[in-house]
Amino acid sequence: MTATPLIRLDKVTKQYGRGQAAMLALKGIDLDIQAGEFVTVMGPSGSGKSTCMNILGCLDTPTSGIFYFQGVDVGKLSADQRTLLRRHYLGFVFQGFNLLNRTSALENVELPLVYRSIPAVQRHRRAHSALAAVGLSGWETHTPSELSGGQQQRVAIARALVTDPKVILADEPTGNLDSARSREIMELLTDLNRERGITIIMVTHESEMAAYANRRIHFVDGLIEGG
Ligand code: ADP
Repeated sequence: MTATPLIRLDKVTKQYGRGQAAMLALKGIDLDIQAGEFVTVMGPSGSGKSTCMNILGCLDTPTSGIFYFQGVDVGKLSADQRTLLRRHYLGFVFQGFNLLNRTSALENVELPLVYRSIPAVQRHRRAHSALAAVGLSGWETHTPSELSGGQQQRVAIARALVTDPKVILADEPTGNLDSARSREIMELLTDLNRERGITIIMVTHESEMAAYANRRIHFVDGLIEGG
């Protein structure tokens, strides 16, 4: 017997627009991701990667097919339950870091805990510990403009980590970084995957970065190649 996959997409399609303007961005995707995997998602622009990541991130819903998270049919959850799933189980890392610019590193990292109504003392403690985990102890009071690109991405990873997610969804996390900084970020993600067992799903265009993962999936024209 195999364990229930953490994530299962079963014949998932996504259509944008209607009638003549309709376009099928996902054409029936089947995908299983087990807890603890580090998966990279590759494929040309327009092949459906972001559409798929938005579904996995509970930011969008399939037109047909089923997205299961820990065996639960996400389509059967209410919008509020999906928001809770996102806040409790998922962490997000973006190419452009998406930090609040006039806000300290510590406050940026605390933000997801504010949404979860965690008391201030506990928020500070957890944010300090998340910043330490990404090698940024001592940088708590700095704002993003006082940090390098690599450090800003570390703050963003700390913000994703602070809720203790099961999954980190990363959309080209090294896209704005030079190659040395990119490798440091990939090593950090690899450590979080190995040491904390966090499942990582990362979109990248760069095969050097994809090589850090255990598995690569390739999107072509709304389908997973070989899938
Ligand atoms: P990728 O991330 O691989 O570049 P996307 O998932 O962004 O691909 O896009 C897949 C297809 O869906 C593209 O043809 C794109 O133009 C189209 N698409 C994406 N988002 C929308 C949208 N909100 N409305 C209409 N079409 C969209």
